[in-house]
Order: sequence, then structure tokens, then C-alpha cells
Amino acid sequence: MSDNSASELLKRPLQYVPGVGPRRAEVLARLGLRTVSDALFFFPRDYEDAREVRSLAQLEADALQSVIGTVHEVEARASSSGRFVLGVLITDGESFLRALWFDQPYRQEMFRRGQRVLLTGRPRYKGMVWTMAHPKAHILAEDETPRMSPLPIYSLTEGIRQWELRRIIRRVVENYADRLEDVFPDDYRAQHHLMPLVEAVRTIHFPPDLAAVELARRRFVHQELCILQLALAVQRARQIEAATASALPRTAKIDARIRRLLPFPLTQAQDQAIQEITADMARTVPMNRLLQGDVGSGKTVVAVYAMLTAVAHQHQAVLMAPTEVLARQHFQTVDRLLSQSRVRRGLLVGGLPSGERKAILDRLANGELDLVVGTQAIAQESVRFHRLGLVVIDEQHKFGVRQRAALKEAGTEPHYLIMTATPIPRTIAMTLFGDLDVSVIKELPPGRKPVKTYLATPDQRSQWWEFFRRKLCEGRQGYVVVPLVEESEAAGPRSVEATYEDLQAGELREFRLAAVHGRMPTLEKEAVMGRFYRHEIDVLICTSVVEVGIDVPNATVMTIENAECFGLAQLHQLRGRVSRGESAGHCCLFTEAASQESRKRLEAFCNTTDGFELAEIDFLSRGPGEILGTRQHGLPPFRIADLIRDRQIAEEARHDAWELVKKDPGLRLAEHSRLRAMMLKRYGRTLDLGDVG
Ligand code: ADP
Ligand code: MG
Repeated sequence: MSDNSASELLKRPLQYVPGVGPRRAEVLARLGLRTVSDALFFFPRDYEDAREVRSLAQLEADALQSVIGTVHEVEARASSSGRFVLGVLITDGESFLRALWFDQPYRQEMFRRGQRVLLTGRPRYKGMVWTMAHPKAHILAEDETPRMSPLPIYSLTEGIRQWELRRIIRRVVENYADRLEDVFPDDYRAQHHLMPLVEAVRTIHFPPDLAAVELARRRFVHQELCILQLALAVQRARQIEAATASALPRTAKIDARIRRLLPFPLTQAQDQAIQEITADMARTVPMNRLLQGDVGSGKTVVAVYAMLTAVAHQHQAVLMAPTEVLARQHFQTVDRLLSQSRVRRGLLVGGLPSGERKAILDRLANGELDLVVGTQAIAQESVRFHRLGLVVIDEQHKFGVRQRAALKEAGTEPHYLIMTATPIPRTIAMTLFGDLDVSVIKELPPGRKPVKTYLATPDQRSQWWEFFRRKLCEGRQGYVVVPLVEESEAAGPRSVEATYEDLQAGELREFRLAAVHGRMPTLEKEAVMGRFYRHEIDVLICTSVVEVGIDVPNATVMTIENAECFGLAQLHQLRGRVSRGESAGHCCLFTEAASQESRKRLEAFCNTTDGFELAEIDFLSRGPGEILGTRQHGLPPFRIADLIRDRQIAEEARHDAWELVKKDPGLRLAEHSRLRAMMLKRYGRTLDLGDVG
């Protein structure tokens, strides 16, 4: 069979597979199954392991099990409603089980007293005896010991039952699996002990045992992660090849000039990060670097250093923040640092009068502005630059590789620096951010005091609020963080609205409170945060929206309600909000969690200030989560890989894929053509690999 007709065959609509037809095809389409190939790669979500043959004494109600026994009695009768009922009583010498079949008179022929049979089904204990309705039955030879294979369990939709889907998929696998051609070259597969594709497809649907499932699964996980890494590596290779960025090296003179502007000496960790960043910027390959550092570790000044380096080379630099309030704050910081300098700077945010806005856009386009600070909306608008050299993205929650495209200039590409306080677990960094280089700031500026964190019991509430009020009376500000915007049920977690009302009428009645949450219109949200920043408000009652987007050194106390509803990394981000100033912050967690595990997590949180450690605990117990999942990264979701379970495979796949691209940067060798096709199919659009072909 030639390549072409094999792939045609796999594209055949399921409708034409015997036993499907147009009506079933519609149901299958709802599961995303349209073609033969869709069905081949529609992996079971689980298996029913019926291999274990149980004695009757060990049976468990309703679970799928197998039993072996001798037929003791075969009895056919009519039910009260006139249906044909066949009852077959079997015994294992100790107890009895009755198998029942309705409306299947032909079965009567199958059984004879004294025969050995194997029955597989879901037993019920009824009227002092186990019964199994419609079990699968096999007549066994005298000395036969049966081997039962696990049964696949597929995700279903209305209109199709498990056994029906199983039968369709079995038919597809039997008829078409051997037409599949492996994406991996033979030697690659052999080297990594990966199961051949055809065998893996057969095994994952209809495995002889669960150990075989693991081997087949490993192959597909490796493939999925490998294809992603190939896409990232090829994209990177293209950037390196194209080398379209301007080289913006730092020189001793530039370094001295920038340091003169800074009000404090840099920490060693900041210096190290700057060293890595400027080394990247000195190359004509666009920088693609992620700067990670806890809240308060001093990332801003590192960004400013990088921007001034670009400006020193007569290039423009842009700093993008997630909210308008933060953009304004960053602008103030930059403006203050540059008060003695001739660097021309501007602020570009949504709320500007249109004349002012137009003036800034014009000056950016004709090169009269060196440095601009704004919200991330800049990337979405058609802002024209004269000579853009560096883009810094701060506190990014969506680390999309795709946002980049909007700022791409014809001919040259800027360098990219992405900053985040979200600690990224190793596996995620490697897998989803495999194309980014990473710098880490692990040290806080001198004199910074870690936030004191408490896990309080309900009877300590009034004591905590007393402390909270005292801080407010000293002129400090605070946050009260709750998980929900609105109450969903009376006993559920706290909401912003209810908490606001309670506190305004109770514990915090003498103070100025305001509520802020993600469902408010952006402008309104920004306005509230602005008032908090100017200390027109004492306490913000909020959801986790304040995780990023606000930076108020005067805020030193935080209450977190229903702490069990938040991830540890998120809690860490939240408490970072009260670690901005000179004096120590205080953060108190309340929890309704009854579970031991939940309390343990929160206790670990109180005892650790290392964001990476917390992110790792979080990741292992809860998965990548919303912030770091594939969706937020702008990538299609994984079909089979599970980054927690498959950490090891992720590492292997990454290593192998990057090695492969090192040898064959465009995947142009014939033996890699299928890998390339698959990579383009899956990631071509997302990662803009369109013209690799
Ligand atoms: P983040 O990493 O959270 O963005 P910032 O850049 O906002 O942190 O820095 C937090 C605070 O620490 C700011 O007030 C900043 O001026 C101060 N800071 C940063 N670096 C140093 C340093 N090397 N020495 C003293 N203070 C510093
Ligand atoms: Mg910051």
C-alpha cells in the first residue's frame, strides 16, 4: 500500500465502517470521532480488569469480576410478565451463584449439568444468593485455566453504550491498525524501547494485560511530548537561523551609566540575571528568556537595566504590565530612576485622553520615544515602533508564545524578556516552556523581612481582627481575600459580597472598605485599585485578582478566608502582596477544611517561604493548574500525557527531541518526514511554523 492510499484509508469517514452507519456516525462525531484515524487514536480512559478470577466467597457487589464454577442446575421458565428466563446455577463447591438471561432461549442449549464455566459480569447479592445478569459465559475444558484480558473503558456520550463503542473500535482496530505507519524512525524507536505504532494501537485498546497497557501508553506519551518538543526546538532553530534581532551588547560604559542611576547596589542574584540577559541581547538571535523571582525579589530594576541597554544602542524598549495600575506604578518607578537622564519615556494605558494617546503613538512610530510602559493591550493594538529592540512582559499569567507575533516588526525581531513571580515547577518549565531560557532570582534585597504566616483556628478570629485593626490604626492597609465572587450556597466558601457586608457592619466598621473581583469591568476594577494605591481605601475585599496587578508597600496585613480553596503557589503570590515594604507583613489563613491532608498542606505553607518548593508540592498534588496548564500557554491540550505521572518521560522526550533537531534543524531528512508532518499538523498554526515545510 502506498503512502497516499494508506493515509486516504485512515481518513475514511466512520460512517462507512461496517456496523456504524449514518445515525451512529452522528453520535460518534459528538465524541470527536469522525474518521478511522480518530477512532484508532481514541484512547480508553480506563480499563476494567476482569482477569482476576474470584472465588464466590470473595465477590464484591457491582464490580466487574470473573468466577469459575460447575453447572449445578439449568432452569428455563417464564417470568410473571411472560418473558423467557434462563437461570444457570453454578457452584465452586462452597457457594452458589445464579446467572440469569432474559429473552435468549438459544442459550439454553449451551449449558449442561457438570460443565465447567467461566462467567464475567457484575454480581448482586439477592435473596441469599449471588446473581449475575447477562454475564459473559465461556465453557471451559476440564484443565483449562482462562486468561482474561482487561476491557477498555471509553468516554461516552448520549446515544451510545460502552459495549457498542467497544465493538466499533475493535472493528476499526482489526481492519485498519496495520495500515498505520510509524512516525518514529526504526533506530530511534529501538534506541528508546518504544513499542511499534501498530502494536501500540492494538495494545492500548485491547491489551493482554495491564502491564502491556503501560508499555503502549509510554510510547504514546513519549510521542506526544516529543512532537511538542520538536515543535519548540524547530521554532528555536529557525530563530537562530534567521538571526533577525539587533545585537545590543552591554559595554563597560553602558554599565557604568546605568548603575549611576540606581539608588541601591544590585544584589548578586540580580547581577547574575543581568549577566545572562545581556549576554542574550548581545546576539542577533532574539532573546527568549523567562525571569523568575519571588514577589519583591527586585525584577523591575533588572528589566529597567535591560531596557536602558537597548536604549543605549538607539533602540526602543517596551515594558508591559498586566493591569493599568501596575503600568502606572512601573512608569513612576522608571520615571524616578530616569529623572537625571535624557531617556525619552512615555506611558501608554487605556485611560489616556485621545490627544495624549495619539501623541505617544506618533512619537513611538517616528522614534521620538525611547522607552514606553503600558498594559499588555499594547500587544493587541497596532502600535508601530520605529526601532523596537526589547520587549519586557511583567507578571505574565498567559505565557503565550503567540502574543509575540503581534509585536513582530518587519525584518527585525525584538528581544523578549518575560518576568514572573509564579514559581514554575521543573517539569512544566521543561515541557511547556521548553523554548525559553530561564533566569532565577533566589535572593531578596537586603533587609527584607519574610511575611509572617499563621494558620488560625476559628476561635482566634476576634484576636486576629483586633491585630488587623491595630495595623490599620497605625496607618497601614490590608487585604481580605476570599475564594468566590458570589455565595453559591449558604454553607459554601466565602464570597466577596457577603464578606464585604459582614466586615463593613462588624469587625472593620470604622474603616474604608472596597470590593474588587475579576467579574467587575476592567475600568471599574482599575479605579478601585487606584484608590487603594492612593490610600483612599484602607482594606480591599477581593478574590485572587490581586495576586498580580497591585503593588502597595503600605499594605502589610492580609486575611485569607477558605484558604483550602487556593493552590499553595497562589497563596504564596497572594501573601507576596504584603511583603512589599520595609516592615514585616502578616498573613493569616482561615480554613474550613476538615481533611487532614488539606491542613497539612496549609501548615507546610506557613513553614516555607520558598515559592519553588511550594509550587512543586502543589504540582505534585494538584497538577499544573490553570495558570500553568497547556491552555494558558496557548497550546492544544495533551491527549494522553500527564505531566505529573509522566515526569520521567517528559525529560527523556525533551532531551531526545532537541538532540534530533540539533542534527536535523528543519526535520528535512526523509526518515523524519512523518515526525515533521505530525508536528506541523499539531503545532504548525499555534507556533507559527507554517513555512517550515
Ligand atoms: P518584584 O520582583 O516583585 O517585581 P520589585 O522590582 O518591585 O520586585 O522590587 C521590590 C522592591 O525592592 C522595590 O521597592 C525595589 O525598589 C526594591 N529593590 C529592588 N532591588 C533592590 C536592591 N538590590 N536593594 C534594595 N532594594 C531593592
Ligand atoms: Mg514586579
